[in-house]
Amino acid sequence: MIDFSHKKVVITGATRGIGKAIAEKFIAHNATIIGIYHANYEAAARMSEQYQAKGADLTLYQCDVADPDAVSKLYKELEETHGTIDVLVNNAGIRNDAIAALMSSDQWRSVIDINLGGSFYMAKGAIPLMLKQKYGRIIMITSPVAWLGIAGQTNYGAAKAGQIGLMRSLAKEVARKKITVNCVAPGFIETELIDSIDEKLRESYRKMVPMNRFGTPAEVAEAAFFLASPYASYITGAVLDITGGL
Ligand code: NAP
Repeated sequence: MIDFSHKKVVITGATRGIGKAIAEKFIAHNATIIGIYHANYEAAARMSEQYQAKGADLTLYQCDVADPDAVSKLYKELEETHGTIDVLVNNAGIRNDAIAALMSSDQWRSVIDINLGGSFYMAKGAIPLMLKQKYGRIIMITSPVAWLGIAGQTNYGAAKAGQIGLMRSLAKEVARKKITVNCVAPGFIETELIDSIDEKLRESYRKMVPMNRFGTPAEVAEAAFFLASPYASYITGAVLDITGGL
């Protein structure tokens, strides 16, 4: 078993969906979890109660990853409380679909700011803490929409493609400091993000998947965990697809 005792893992969007499954995977390997949530206080309270009662080393912080000042305040606090961090999983994301001709500038901006801006601000803040120990793993949760495209998701596709560009350049900047930067690209995964999609459209998405089913958050968590593990020590600048063959 890979032991993550004394490893500090920051996960954005850690209290629901894929982020929660990633947190659970690291908790099972004894990591110290610093989980970030945004507006769903009930989900955060539930998770905190569930895992702190079991003795997990889990601290949750409220922060809007799209707000650079809030992120820099968060890192100041983390530096005081934790000193360094070992792993950052940039998982927080939203979708807000509309065909381009009808997409409002707010719909465009919010999806870019949270998915892409949030990934940048969180990575920028993590690097100085990782440089202190010359070790770090940064993982971004992108999407195959980045290269396949889906009608109605120009904002989401652009943000997710942007994360891949961000990841590839950042990987080159920090490779010599023993920090790796990679993406995980989940296909259609059963979470609240896609629960809200109309049933007929969901069915058409399901038919696109060669394995003929949606994935689970736990299946994505395995990939994120692998990239953070010693088995992935020579992998950087890569995208790992978890898509059932899309
Ligand atoms: P989800 O169930 O809707 O959860 C989204 C998480 O992001 C929540 O924890 C939410 O926090 C957090 N979040 C949203 N806006 C935030 C902000 N401004 N600041 C901080 N946290 C914020 O979504 P999911 O399906 O697990 O998706 C997780 C990631 O995987 C996203 O990046 C998504 O694009 C990507 N992805 C998902 C799928 C899929 O099929 N589900 C496929 C490919 C990629 P609160 O709970 O506090 O609101």
